[in-house]
Amino acid sequence: MCGIVGYVGERQACPVIIKGLHRLEYRGYDSAGVALVTPDGGLNLYKCKGKVSDLERFLDGKQPTGTIGIGHTRWATHGEPNDVNAHPHFSASGNIALIHNGIIENFRVLKDALVQHGFTFRSSTDSEVLVNLIEYIRDTNGCTLEEAVRMALKQVVGAYAIAVIERGNTSQIIAAKQSSPMAIGIGKGEFFLSSDAASIIDYTQDFVYLGDGEVAVINKNKPLRIMNLGGKESPVDIQKLELSISQLEKGGYPHFMLKEIHEQPDTLVDCIRGRVNPDTREIILSGVLDHREKFLGAGRIIFVACGTSWHASLIGEHLIESMCRIPVEVEYASEFRYRNPIIRKDDVVIAVSQSGETADTLAAVEMARSAGAFVYGICNVVGSSIARATHSGTYIHVGPEIGVASTKAFTGQVTVMAMLALVIGRLKGTLGEDKYHEVAGALLELPQTMKEVLKTADQVADLAKIFTYAHNFIYLGRGYNYPTALEGALKLKEISYIHAEGLPAAEMKHGPIALIDAEMPTVAIATQDHTYEKTLSNIEEIKARGGKIIAIVSKGDRLARRCADYCIEVPVTAECLMPVISSVPLQLLAYYIATYKGRSVDQPRNLAKSVTVE
Ligand code: GLU
Repeated sequence: MCGIVGYVGERQACPVIIKGLHRLEYRGYDSAGVALVTPDGGLNLYKCKGKVSDLERFLDGKQPTGTIGIGHTRWATHGEPNDVNAHPHFSASGNIALIHNGIIENFRVLKDALVQHGFTFRSSTDSEVLVNLIEYIRDTNGCTLEEAVRMALKQVVGAYAIAVIERGNTSQIIAAKQSSPMAIGIGKGEFFLSSDAASIIDYTQDFVYLGDGEVAVINKNKPLRIMNLGGKESPVDIQKLELSISQLEKGGYPHFMLKEIHEQPDTLVDCIRGRVNPDTREIILSGVLDHREKFLGAGRIIFVACGTSWHASLIGEHLIESMCRIPVEVEYASEFRYRNPIIRKDDVVIAVSQSGETADTLAAVEMARSAGAFVYGICNVVGSSIARATHSGTYIHVGPEIGVASTKAFTGQVTVMAMLALVIGRLKGTLGEDKYHEVAGALLELPQTMKEVLKTADQVADLAKIFTYAHNFIYLGRGYNYPTALEGALKLKEISYIHAEGLPAAEMKHGPIALIDAEMPTVAIATQDHTYEKTLSNIEEIKARGGKIIAIVSKGDRLARRCADYCIEVPVTAECLMPVISSVPLQLLAYYIATYKGRSVDQPRNLAKSVTVE
């Protein structure tokens, strides 16, 4: 999720680590910290909530010395962002320090067992459980740190990149990874460590990338050793990283938005991980299951949201009404809060916000709570105001979103809503087992489907060149594709400043079709669902009036090709998940048109990432 930097060698470790952490700042984070072994073997810890610059101020005058250390920027997943939850974490005795990126999914079970053995915990993180497990294993078995780390990781379910140091050892760092990146930079008599090799490119271009389930024993006086959790060593494969410093901040991408679009296969993995069991397809959303009576007894579900989250909520409406047979309303939070709405005690209000800080949505949450409704949050930022103000909720876990135009948060929100509908529909008995298994199976394949749809990027870029001239656009869709059309239009408006309107395709003939001429391109989402034939008729109507049409179609489609001027083929998934896939070429279209027009893609004029004012 967030950032790791480590150093062992002859230099002072702290400045090296701080510089690396600065390089990782673009990822977004909420706290930072560093642990160092002093020359006489002491283990010192410095950490605080806030930015790396806050950590620097905190360190000022403290003269942190040591030629070995580990540093971290945290993007909270378990426990709110504060000084105590910041990494590194000490073990109970203070003899071991650990930094961790990722999520230990079975931390509750491990923690309960450690509490039984007398361990106490300072933080609410999942990470502190791991450092104490390592200590417990080392002390009970009398083994080395390296062995204890390997044994502890055998018990861990989840994703991690970790680095561990210990009191009294001025030459050794143990690192390991599973589903979270970790690179070791090789210098002369020194080693660097980072979750993103680019962050330490100032010092070396020679890197070893740890594989899943691998542990590295990094000792400044010895050759690097890489082994699996069983201790079996494998050869060390050193690779050259050719990268210029200027490319760093965006991980090699020219803009955060493009990086975030391309990150979506990984962010979907993070969103689904630990929730959909790959063997049984069982979906566990504890935020729902712990409050099942609220959802089962709901007379109505009301989504409150703004912008992209409002579009995702429209998809949520389709999902819940069709799978759970509960009436759903989707409200703009800003309208809802000022309308004196009717809120009943058996309503479930779902607040959707990437940042979890959207002022109108937060106000709507407070209003719904005081009216006695059960309030559920779908947020990205852990510990955010909406996440705290709701009774329960589910994080989308897509990592920090920096580009102002939301991309991976939208696909994460829709994915969470699909899981939510599946869980409630199954509990209520309104969803057949076959359908449940079909959609749950498609969810598991979604990261792979996302990888495939990203292959359309070059084709979309070429298309964008053709349409840079346009001053207006129309986006059309029906059913699940209608909110996708709205979202596509919003992306274009936000970053290219081209006026765009999203409409249900059949509404065209009730007025907007009067706008159609050769200067008004239409993007029609015409994937093969139950509205496909109807959408094709709507496309024909536009064609007949001289409009230019870009159609987003299912792979292998033949019919749409006959009436559309350009077709982008997307891979097929379950109909209710299509918005996750068909929104991607629309994100890319907006992105490329905006870049060809020379717009400031990541910070478009007049917009802020998280709207914390009304
Ligand atoms: N799950 C850990 C925490 O909440 C690590 C988060 C991260 O990857 O930054 O502290």
